[in-house]
Amino acid sequence: MPDYKAPLRDIRFVRDEVLNYPAHYQSLPGCEEATPDMVGAILEEGAKFCQEVLAPLNQVGDREGCTWSPEGVKTPAGFKEAYAQYVEGGWPALSHDTAHGGQGLPESLGMAISELMGEANWAWGMYPGLSHGAMNTLQAHGTPEQQKTYLEPLVTGQWTGTMCLTEPHCGTDLGMLRTKAEPQADGSYKVSGTKIFISAGEHDMAENIVHIVLARLPDAPAGTKGISLFIVPKFLTDGQGGLGARNGVSCGSIEHKMGIHGNATCVMNFDGATGFLIGPANKGLNCMFTFMNTARLGTAIQGLAHAEVALQGASTYARERLQMRALSGPKFPDQPADPIIVHPDVRRMLLTIKSYAEGNRALLYYAAQQVDIMQHSQDAAAREQADKLLGFLTPIAKAFMTETGFEAANLGVQVFGGHGYISEHGMEQNVRDSRISMLYEGTTGVQALDLLGRKVLMTQGEPLRIFTKVVHKFCKANSGNRAISELVKPLAELNKEWGDLTLKIGMKAMTNREAVGAASVDYLMYSGYVTLAYFWADMARVAAEKLAAGEGDKAFYQAKLHTARFYFTRILPRTRAHVEAIKAGPDVLMDLPAGDFALGY
Ligand SMILES: Cc1cc2nc3c(=O)[nH]c(=O)nc-3n(C[C@H](O)[C@H](O)[C@H](O)COP(=O)(O)OP(=O)(O)OC[C@H]3O[C@@H](n4cnc5c(N)ncnc54)[C@H](O)[C@@H]3O)c2cc1C
Repeated sequence: MPDYKAPLRDIRFVRDEVLNYPAHYQSLPGCEEATPDMVGAILEEGAKFCQEVLAPLNQVGDREGCTWSPEGVKTPAGFKEAYAQYVEGGWPALSHDTAHGGQGLPESLGMAISELMGEANWAWGMYPGLSHGAMNTLQAHGTPEQQKTYLEPLVTGQWTGTMCLTEPHCGTDLGMLRTKAEPQADGSYKVSGTKIFISAGEHDMAENIVHIVLARLPDAPAGTKGISLFIVPKFLTDGQGGLGARNGVSCGSIEHKMGIHGNATCVMNFDGATGFLIGPANKGLNCMFTFMNTARLGTAIQGLAHAEVALQGASTYARERLQMRALSGPKFPDQPADPIIVHPDVRRMLLTIKSYAEGNRALLYYAAQQVDIMQHSQDAAAREQADKLLGFLTPIAKAFMTETGFEAANLGVQVFGGHGYISEHGMEQNVRDSRISMLYEGTTGVQALDLLGRKVLMTQGEPLRIFTKVVHKFCKANSGNRAISELVKPLAELNKEWGDLTLKIGMKAMTNREAVGAASVDYLMYSGYVTLAYFWADMARVAAEKLAAGEGDKAFYQAKLHTARFYFTRILPRTRAHVEAIKAGPDVLMDLPAGDFALGY
C-alpha cells in the first residue's frame, strides 16, 4: 500500500492559480479571514492529520469492518481514537456558523479538508461527513431552540448525525415511504418505522447520534407532498445540556457489503421514538434537499478521492515495476527489463486517471466557490446566479465524478496487473470502496434525470446557458492564445453543440416522453466531458502563462499542458459516442416487451 500524500501542490494550483481563491475570499463578507496564510496553515495541518492518523487506518477498517451486537456497533480499531483527535483539533467546527460554536470559515475550505479525509480513508470520513449534512439541515431549517440543543453538540463533534431516508421498499421513490410520526400533546412526535442502509446509524465514536428522519404525519397527503422531516436523537436531552433517557431508536443489524467496510451501514428501527418536527409539516423533502445537495457534492468528492488514490498508487508502481522492453528499444538497458511506464498502454491508463483526478478537482472547487457565493454574497443577483450554476453542476459533479472515479480506480488495479487484485497494494479496496459512490445520494440514472429533466428542460435551459456563457467567454478571450489554440477551438465547437443537442432532445421529448429518460445518462456524461474540457483548457492556459513567465515548477506546468492535450485528444472524443447514442432515441430501448428480456433460458 503506497503512503498517502495529500496533493497540496495540485490543490493550491487549482484553488489559487486557476480559480483565484484569495480574491474570491476577499470579495465575500465573512470570508476575509481565510487569507492565503491561514488557508495554507489549515491545509497543512489537515494533510498531516490525514496522512498520519487516517490513512494508516484505511486498510485496518477494510479488514476488520464494523461489528454489531445488541449493545451497539463497534467500529474498527483506531477509528474511535482518530475521531477523538479530529474533535480535539476542532475540525468539525471549521466551516460552521460562529453563532453555534463554529469557526465560520468558508464551506469551500471545509470541502478541501473533506477531500483530504476522503482520500486518506473514505469509510472513516463518512462519519463526520454525514454530521456535516445534518448540521447544514439544522442550520437552515431548525428553530433557535433546536439549533441550541442539537446543532451545537454536532458542531463541536461531541455528537454525530445521520440521514434517514431509505426504507426497504423505497430508495429512489421516496414518495412511497411509510415511517409514521404521531403528534403528541407536548408538541413532540412518536416516530415508528424501519429505515435501511443508514450510514453511521450506530457506532461507538460519539456519545449521541442525531438522526434526521423523513416520516409521514397521520393526515399527510400521499406521495412526496406528504413527507415531513424530524430530529430523532439516540439519547434524549435532560433539558440542562446533558444526556437524558435512551430514545426508542435502535440498530437492528448492519449490512455485509462490497466496500467501505469501516463505515456501519445500519438497519434502524424506530419504535415510537420521540422526534421533533423540523421545518413545515409536509415540506420535509424540500428541507431535505439542503441535506441532499451537501451530501451530493460530498459524494462527488468521493469520486475525486478514488481517482487520486489510484493516481498515487499506479504512478509510483509504474515507475518501479520492470516488465518487457519498450517497443522502440530498451530504455533502461542496464536493467533486466524496462519499467512498465515505457509502454503506451500503461501511459494511456495513467493519463486517464490523472486527467480525471486533476480535472475533477477543478470542477469540485469551482462548484465550491458557488456554495460560498450563495452563502456569503450580499449581491442578490450573484447569489441567484450561483444557486442556478450550482444546481446545474451538482448532478454533473455527483454522477460524472463518481463514474470517472470508479473508472480511474479500476484502471489503478489494471496498472498493477495481477498485483492490483491482491489486497496488499490497496488498489482492489479502492475499487470496492468507490463502487457505492454511483449508487447512494441518487444513482447516476437519477442524477441524469435531475440534470436533463429538472435542471435543463424544465427551465428552458437557463442554467445551461449560464454555464455555456462562461465557457463562451473563455473561448472568446483565448481565441488568439496560440499556446492553447488546439484546445480552444474544439471546446468552442462542443460548447455550441451542447445547446443544439439539448434543443433536439427537448423537441423529441415533446412527442415522446420517454426521450428524456433514454437520453439522460448519455447527456450527463456528455455534459461531464465538456465541463471537464473547459477546466482542462483553463488549467492549460494558466500553465502556459506560468511557463512563459519562467516561473519555477516547470515540470509541474508542463505536465498540466501535457495532460490537457491528452484529455482533449484521447478522452474528449467519447462525446461522439454519447451524441450518437442520444440520436438513436428511445425506441430501441422501449420496443422490447418487458417479459422478453429474459427469453432464451
Ligand atoms: C452502503 C450504502 C449506504 C447508504 N447510506 C444511506 C444513508 O445514509 N441514508 C439513506 O437514507 N440511504 C442510504 N443508502 C441508500 C441509497 O441512497 C439507495 O440505495 C439509493 O438511493 C438507491 O435506492 P434503491 O437501492 O432502493 O434502488 P432503487 O430505487 O430500487 O433503484 C434500482 C435501479 O433503478 C433505477 N431507477 C429507479 N427509478 C428510476 C427512474 N425513475 N428512472 C430511471 N432509473 C430509475 C436506479 O437508478 C437503479 O439503477 C445507502 C445505500 C448503501 C448501499
